Amino acid sequence: MAKTLTIEEPGFSCSLAKEYVKKHVATPPKMPVVACEGSCLRGEIARRAANFITYKLSPETTVRICFQGIVSGGCEEGVLIEMADKVLFVEGCALKCSSRLVQGAMEIKAKTDVVVADQLCDFNPKLFGIDEMPDEEISILAEGVAEKIAGNIKEA
Ligand code: SF4
Repeated sequence: MAKTLTIEEPGFSCSLAKEYVKKHVATPPKMPVVACEGSCLRGEIARRAANFITYKLSPETTVRICFQGIVSGGCEEGVLIEMADKVLFVEGCALKCSSRLVQGAMEIKAKTDVVVADQLCDFNPKLFGIDEMPDEEISILAEGVAEKIAGNIKEA
């Protein structure tokens, strides 16, 4: 079952993203890291884990990607996905929104790794909002998720 979306084009593209793409073109290509970016606790853990992987654990070999701009138009970061050998999606929950949206917006030739953050850490499953857990605890969970993912990347 598939869903068709009609999205209004912005009519311009983001010049900052264009510069970002230029800065991160590399040989061998960096691995794009895409996250849920959701507004809930799971999305926040995924977002922080993706940032931790990209900016702390593997800054030389990974690059953070804004999937909303790729799907809705106006952001050229999709070029980094086109050039990549492997793309990492850090999803917040089992809905796996970011990978499904990007796969619907563009053809991904690279190998894709889709990991679900809430399956890589333990917390009370009834919690939903970001305000339901102390900020520091969210960061600790996210760092743990990032370390698990980064460990698997190195082993692969
Ligand atoms: S898709 Fe899941 S993780 Fe992402 S915002 Fe929605 S409920 Fe949260």
